[in-house]
Amino acid sequence: MELTLVHLYPDLMNIYGDRGNIAALAYRCRQRKINLKVKAVSVNDRLTPGSFDLLFAGGGQDRQQIVVSRDLKTKAKVIHQAADADIPMLTICGSYQLFGEYFQPFSGPKLSGIGLFKAYTIASKKRKIGNILVQSRWGELVGFENHSGNTWLKDKNQALGQVIHGFGNNGHDQTEGAIYNHALGCYLHGSLLPKNPHLADYLIRTALEIKYKKTIKLQPLNDEFEWQAHRTSAKIGR
Ligand code: GLN
Repeated sequence: MELTLVHLYPDLMNIYGDRGNIAALAYRCRQRKINLKVKAVSVNDRLTPGSFDLLFAGGGQDRQQIVVSRDLKTKAKVIHQAADADIPMLTICGSYQLFGEYFQPFSGPKLSGIGLFKAYTIASKKRKIGNILVQSRWGELVGFENHSGNTWLKDKNQALGQVIHGFGNNGHDQTEGAIYNHALGCYLHGSLLPKNPHLADYLIRTALEIKYKKTIKLQPLNDEFEWQAHRTSAKIGR
């Protein structure tokens, strides 16, 4: 079996090691002899409809988000169509913000998002930095957050999870991240997937099930080190 993953703006949106998520997905596919093709799609590149089974976009500083906000408009229709067709997506921090309705940086103009998540983000002076622990439908998720943005969900039921420790979307309403079908947005850097193998496998399994239109049972992997890293982060987070 094979999967095509589009990595959006890898040259601009890759702070705090977010490309580690691609490495984790590639490893978990390789171990199962699933051929994962990774396609980098950046500014002025065409995002071809129906050309991908998974999408990933990482975090970035405000200035990179200015460039990405402009270009993302040209890819919005294809991304919406893919999300509506249940294609799994993972967007982290700065990309997560731009998959919402807008990001208002601390200074400068409002950056429009594509409105996939019914959420908006307003930068604050108080950066939210540290280990974060979240309870979600996949169980516990651990990560590291570093953002000025406060994200507000129009419907809290769209949250990816509830904050056990850390700030999450805004440090006030205990929500973290957002979900639309199988498109996920969150503030969990780290990178996220190496320490949350259960979430990585959900993305892989979902992509295969949508592509091959059948139930997929992934061969279990020896995740001893992944869970050790997870528990260590969770301990720091408690
Ligand atoms: N620039 C955005 C913020 O500070 C996103 C940062 C990030 O991607 N880590 O909120």
